[in-house]
Order: sequence, then structure tokens, then C-alpha cells
Amino acid sequence: MNKILFDFPIYQDRIAVFLAIKYFLKNQTGASRDSMLELMTIFLSKYGIKRFLFDNFSIRLNQKSKLAYIYGLQKAESNFCPGCGTYIFKYDSPVRILSIEENINDRVTYGCACGEIFFRIELNK
Ligand SMILES: [Zn+2]
Repeated sequence: MNKILFDFPIYQDRIAVFLAIKYFLKNQTGASRDSMLELMTIFLSKYGIKRFLFDNFSIRLNQKSKLAYIYGLQKAESNFCPGCGTYIFKYDSPVRILSIEENINDRVTYGCACGEIFFRIELNK
């Protein structure tokens, strides 16, 4: 069966993915995370692309799992959310790990309940 590919992602699809991400960051439930990941994966598949750029993050396709993940583009130099200033590693932190790219040092993407998405380079010990 031939797969139908579409042109540049239309606004309705882009906003649906964007809102699913913001919704997950705000309420952080397992169900909203699953919905977000599924919608992101369907989105990339629909347009036959491996990555798509939003303003300060992109979504990318994991070649192994064939699932989409969020890749932060804004670098945080401290242990605080650049959006709201919350300490990332406190107990009951509103900051969640969204993805980890393992390398000599890990590149960890975080998302905060305030809506901010950012990454940190974390040393492997
Ligand atoms: Zn924040």
C-alpha cells in the first residue's frame, strides 16, 4: 500500500501537537503523556518527516523505537527552570524529563509545568 504524504504541516496539525505538549506539561498525567507521544508520532508519520521545529524545541523520531520525542533547543546553564525559576531537582518538582540523548555527556530535555522546554548537558559519572 502506498503511503500518502502531505506537504508542509498545516496549522491545525501543528497546533494540535503543540497543545498536546502544553497540556501534558501542565497536568503531567500518564494518560496525557501517552496521548502527546502518540499525536507527535502520528504527526511525523503523516508528513513523512523525521523532525519538526517548533519555536524553542523540536520533535524528532527515535529511529529505534519509531516513537517521537521532544528535543529541547534552549540551553539552561543552571539548576533552575529558565521560565519560572523553579529548582529542577527538588522533591515534587514540576519539571519533568522529556527525553535523554546518551553520549559522552547526556543531553537531557526537560519540560516544566509553566510551559518551558529546555535542555541541560549532564556529566556522566
Ligand atoms: Zn518553569
